[in-house]
Amino acid sequence: MNIEQLYRQVIMDHYKNPKNKGFVADPNYVTIHLNNPSCGDEMTVQLKVEGNKITDIKHQGTGCSICCSSASVMSQTLKDQEVEKADQIIHEFYELIKGYPFNPDILKGDAIVYQGVSQFPARIKCATLAWKAAEMGLKKIKEDKSK
Ligand code: ZN
Repeated sequence: MNIEQLYRQVIMDHYKNPKNKGFVADPNYVTIHLNNPSCGDEMTVQLKVEGNKITDIKHQGTGCSICCSSASVMSQTLKDQEVEKADQIIHEFYELIKGYPFNPDILKGDAIVYQGVSQFPARIKCATLAWKAAEMGLKKIKEDKSK
């Protein structure tokens, strides 16, 4: 198995058996819904932050394998992280997706399998949709806190 096949395998595993999938009707979660018209992806991400830590993430959506698997990877990567660190991780993920050098001390684990996406610009929005939703959710939490 070469590295590309391995990456594709990881993506398909998350697509078929997504982590943290679901929706909770709980006002303690911030809910962000985004769509990607160019591919037809729909994504809802929910975040729960307690203190300075993301204690739970849920995602639910329909779309292509890149989008849905990436939501699973995002939830796995950011759950139990501190908000500040999560923002750094999201930033490094965007660097990776664009094909730029990223910091492997910050961005670790399954997320790195998306580095091939940079060769397919049409899929970049698919890979980043759930991460954008998480980024917006964290921003909203910070804004609510400072009120
Ligand atoms: Zn897509």
